[in-house]
Amino acid sequence: MRINDGQKQIIIKFLQDKWKLKSCPVCGQQQTYDLAEQVYQLTEYPAVGRMGGSVVAPVIPVTCRNCGNTLLVNALIAKVPLNNSWLDEERAEQEEREGHQ
Ligand SMILES: [Zn+2]
Repeated sequence: MRINDGQKQIIIKFLQDKWKLKSCPVCGQQQTYDLAEQVYQLTEYPAVGRMGGSVVAPVIPVTCRNCGNTLLVNALIAKVPLNNSWLDEERAEQEEREGHQ
């Protein structure tokens, strides 16, 4: 799921409030992290059938441009709204983009 500007601002504020490290813990470079444009999900292993109810964690990758080190921020802990209204908004934006192509 693609994140919109409102969601992105919530994540950036969360990271500014919570993250104490200002450099990459792997390569030591300063201010090299990029926020992903999508929410991904970690799925419980082994995957269970569709009706089986696997546990899923929504995460947003934050990646170091220098070395590729990637940290995953849990969207629920960061309180990023992932409800249907955001999805509906995203779908509307996507439909609009596709309509203009
Ligand atoms: Zn790095």
